[in-house]
Amino acid sequence: MHARAPVNGLSVDVEDWFQVGAFETVIDRDAWSSLADRVERNCDAILAMFDEAGVKGTFFTLGWVAQRHPALVRRIAEQGHEVASHGWDHQRVFRMDRLAFAQDLSMSRKAIEDAAGVQVTGYRAPSFSIDARTPWAHQELAAQGYVYSSSVAPVAHDHYGWREAPRFAFSPLPDNDLVEVPVTTALFAGRRLAAGGGGFFRVLPYGFSRWAIRQVNRHGRPAVFYFHPWEIDPGQPRIAQAPIRSRLRHYTNLGVMADKLRQLIGEFAWGRMDALVMREAPTATVLPATALAA
Ligand SMILES: [Zn+2]
Repeated sequence: MHARAPVNGLSVDVEDWFQVGAFETVIDRDAWSSLADRVERNCDAILAMFDEAGVKGTFFTLGWVAQRHPALVRRIAEQGHEVASHGWDHQRVFRMDRLAFAQDLSMSRKAIEDAAGVQVTGYRAPSFSIDARTPWAHQELAAQGYVYSSSVAPVAHDHYGWREAPRFAFSPLPDNDLVEVPVTTALFAGRRLAAGGGGFFRVLPYGFSRWAIRQVNRHGRPAVFYFHPWEIDPGQPRIAQAPIRSRLRHYTNLGVMADKLRQLIGEFAWGRMDALVMREAPTATVLPATALAA
């Protein structure tokens, strides 16, 4: 990479293997406390990987996890990474109303800040669930003093997506400085492809992600990449009752994920999301009214 390549945003959505959207129909929230807890050891492996590579990132953490693993959250902060919020218990934003969202936000922030000992200024919605159905979500984030959100997937997808949203940093509110930095998409034959990580990174060949990030960086923009602690954990319990599509998505390539991540981290420049937001904020576009009407 040449010296002027943008510094991309490296993020981890800190949740355990049983808290993913793919299993929500077969694993009840009430059962979570009784399941094998693997998030701490998996996050420690990620911290070791980041340390080895000399990179810092942002850990969007569930309040539920912070309450049970305060020492982990503190370690993440002490090692120079950003700790931000991923909501309380992975409830999608479009399944809540504004009041429930406000409570989810403040409860998770308190648990994370108490554990980390630092202020939380960033938020990522579970399953990128801020879209045209939730115009109050960015208003509530601004009302609670958040600086940024990275909660929009500007793409059409079967589980999520706000196709009409801008692909890069935008101002969702006319009267507030809150910045939304969507997860990365790439353009292919005029269509937007989800290219910011998660299952796409794990399941597709590494070359797809390299192509996508190079495309974005070539235009001078940073990519926003995310993955989960359970994605580097081939030893996690298997849920046989889950739908076949969910199982395929969740269990494919867990054994090769760590090596793929090392390659990705070594090949591009990475940093924390709050730093990326500072650099991108001046370029933020206004959210077109047509995107909300969609
Ligand atoms: Zn999540």
